[in-house]
Amino acid sequence: MILGALEAGGTKMVCAIGDENGNIFEQVSIPTETPEITMPKMISYFKEKGIEALGIGCFGPIDPDPDSDTYGYITSTPKLAWANYNIVGAFRDALECPVGFDTDVNGSVLGEVTFGQAKGKKCVVYVTIGTGVGAGIYIEGRLLHGMLHPEAGHILMKKRADDTYGGKCPYHKTCMEGLAAGPAIEERWGKKAIELKDNQAVWDLEAYYIAQALANYILILSPDMIILGGGVMHQEQLFPLIRKYVTEMLNGYIKTEELADMDHYIVPASLHDDQGIMGCLELARRSMP
Ligand code: ADP
Ligand code: ZN
Repeated sequence: MILGALEAGGTKMVCAIGDENGNIFEQVSIPTETPEITMPKMISYFKEKGIEALGIGCFGPIDPDPDSDTYGYITSTPKLAWANYNIVGAFRDALECPVGFDTDVNGSVLGEVTFGQAKGKKCVVYVTIGTGVGAGIYIEGRLLHGMLHPEAGHILMKKRADDTYGGKCPYHKTCMEGLAAGPAIEERWGKKAIELKDNQAVWDLEAYYIAQALANYILILSPDMIILGGGVMHQEQLFPLIRKYVTEMLNGYIKTEELADMDHYIVPASLHDDQGIMGCLELARRSMP
């Protein structure tokens, strides 16, 4: 089976060809400009390869509800050229094949559940901490949508008493993204995140906020694994700190085998940064009749 995968991001569009087993045969990266410029390039790439279906994991917000009039649209994104753009319709018309569509983070969690370390798990949360914070949620065989799709990067947070930073989210100031995404780290400490590598106070505070978000996800969703990805999580010293704070914050209230083995419960992505594109291959497969 020849499947197309598109990880649609605000800065680049990663297009790949692969199969239903998660094999990736080739991929290209195309800069995200306007639909007028970028779409024809992607369409001609996929057209030449004779794909049987396309799966798209997309920056959002998007409309993933097949019963909605605006299904397949990128909706109210700050990337204005793409706001209210029917990306699924455009590909379906041009390629004449089935198109699967979901958020980028749901794509990543689907990749990990189908081909990675989360195979066989019942509920998995994939959190990306980069320019923004987002979470994909897989629950009992399907990706969670609800009325739209989860926006778990914007949960409201309790600030730590020693943190005087005002927060970066234009909607909520000190939500999770406003306190803990890469741009918030950089504004709070006045340096690029990567240059703060050796400053323990930075990563202790960062881990505290990530742990607070994870504790809430654990209490609400009861996941059996949490996977953390995105640029900020390249700071691997965060993992032990996050595990320690999550354990402290839950304070023994939930007793499970998973929580007793934190090193295998809160983990980095396992597919060498291909979890997103591999999830898109599975979205493509699932879109076929
Ligand atoms: P995006 O979210 O745009 O897809 P990334 O996941 O790479 O891209 O996130 C970019 C953000 O991650 C930047 O704001 C930067 O602060 C942060 N970042 C990138 N690389 C690192 C790193 N090695 N260590 C810490 N932070 C990083
Ligand atoms: Zn917010």
